[in-house]
Amino acid sequence: MIKQNLSLIRQRIHRAALRCGRNPSDIKLVAISKKFPASAIIEALSAGQNIFGENYIQEAASKIETLDTTASFHLVGHLQSNKVKVAARIFHMIETIDSVKIAQSLNKELDRQDRIMDILIQVNMGGESQKSGVSPANLLELLQQIKLLPNLRPQGLMTIPPYTETPEKTRPYFKSLCQLAKEMAQHNVFFNNDKVELSMGMSDDFEIAIEEGASIVRIGTAIFGQRHLDLVEP
Ligand SMILES: *Cc1c(COP(=O)(O)O)cnc(C)c1O
Repeated sequence: MIKQNLSLIRQRIHRAALRCGRNPSDIKLVAISKKFPASAIIEALSAGQNIFGENYIQEAASKIETLDTTASFHLVGHLQSNKVKVAARIFHMIETIDSVKIAQSLNKELDRQDRIMDILIQVNMGGESQKSGVSPANLLELLQQIKLLPNLRPQGLMTIPPYTETPEKTRPYFKSLCQLAKEMAQHNVFFNNDKVELSMGMSDDFEIAIEEGASIVRIGTAIFGQRHLDLVEP
């Protein structure tokens, strides 16, 4: 099933890109495997999927340990300072940096481990108090601080828009994130200001996100199926 789902999602990404005049190969698919066992990742790996996203550090660490793979893992859940050490070791990209404090602590740990890491800044576009992410108003200041940290490579922005049953309603948030990235790039605050990554779009709205410039889409349910609560990390 995972294999067929992946193939269908890849086709939809391809078609969405062509529809809006983009190169399909400019869009990376991150398969969100949170709350699914390592066996689900193995099935996706055998179908050629090589980037996975996880939300919880312990869950990710135990799965990655059992897998012997060169696939990359992205952290798409909130990073707490007490988990920085493990996160620095197991992830290839952290998509959820949203404060100077967590950026500094990650930079310090990466320095100890002699590693450099790609990161994205999570922006709270909907201004939702219960959601992580820096506000658009504080983004430039955060990026300027991050620029001073040698072990972090800020590649772009990530957002999770407010939940809605009508995917089309997420479009304005995607549009604004894209606009914001362009504004920030003019200040030369990214690792590569000519190619800023935009991580936006999930199972229900990834085609809209692609139309609005997404370069990374994060898809869970449409690949792995409904998540089961008994695999939630305490
Ligand atoms: C769970 C999750 C996803 C995937 O959501 P689906 O609707 O299952 O595709 C994407 N991004 C983040 C940050 C998530 O936590």
